[in-house]
Amino acid sequence: MGDFKIITFDVEHGSSHVLITPNNHVIMIDAGSREDFSPALHLKNTWGYTQLRWLTVTHHDSDHLTDIANIAEHFRPLTLEQPTVELHQLTELYSEGFSTPLEVFLEFKKDYNRPVPPMGDSSYDWGGVQFATFKNEYHELENPKINDMSVVTFAHYQGWTFIFPGDLESQGWLKLLEKQEFKDWLSRVDVFVASHHGRESGFCKEVFDTCKPHITIISDKSTSDTSCTDSYYPSCKGLDVRNPLNEKNKRYVLTTREDGAIHINIDSEGRYSISTTV
Ligand SMILES: [Zn+2]
Repeated sequence: MGDFKIITFDVEHGSSHVLITPNNHVIMIDAGSREDFSPALHLKNTWGYTQLRWLTVTHHDSDHLTDIANIAEHFRPLTLEQPTVELHQLTELYSEGFSTPLEVFLEFKKDYNRPVPPMGDSSYDWGGVQFATFKNEYHELENPKINDMSVVTFAHYQGWTFIFPGDLESQGWLKLLEKQEFKDWLSRVDVFVASHHGRESGFCKEVFDTCKPHITIISDKSTSDTSCTDSYYPSCKGLDVRNPLNEKNKRYVLTTREDGAIHINIDSEGRYSISTTV
């Protein structure tokens, strides 16, 4: 077995995570980008990847989709996972109209019309990584909102568990917390990606009755009035993180706005290393 690599790119107020499994499958969770940086082009031109095994679009807000045109042009992901939502429901959820990235995505997703087993299905070989995904469906929510329909992905490798919850807000978290299997996964989380860019609306205190992570990762551009970075500190136990000067510090919360891209590596013995680029 090799290493499991998890990269959170700095895409300002957006979201883009790349997971590279020990058997070298490339998984992308969300397709955010910056005006001057495309994760898809970086994967192709700098890292030399030619195939995306899996793309999960947590939900349909444009800050999770701006890189879709590059993904569509340079990769054809084998599998696309997305919220379960019909076009007429999307029209209701986006009463102000669709963003351009969403229009591009709706075109792109037409190629993906065959149902496939979920990521956690035992028919997939992820090189020793286990996955589980959960999502709320439109009709399950009292007040359907696209953020609360975010696809939530858990990944587990050699004793380490990660959660990628998209932009879930309280209603969505509480609905998923009704499922025992979801709570079981949550109780094992070590690396917590904050939902909704670390904004107050994504923070659900009930989550931390179950979840005691080591570290939280926040993907956002700048601190806004609604950022609640401090809320995550008390729940986190801390991990050693190396900065670009190779200095090791105990950290509790990492943010792309302060730390740049965040690289996590779990080796086959379960040893971790975390480094930041700023
Ligand atoms: Zn977002």
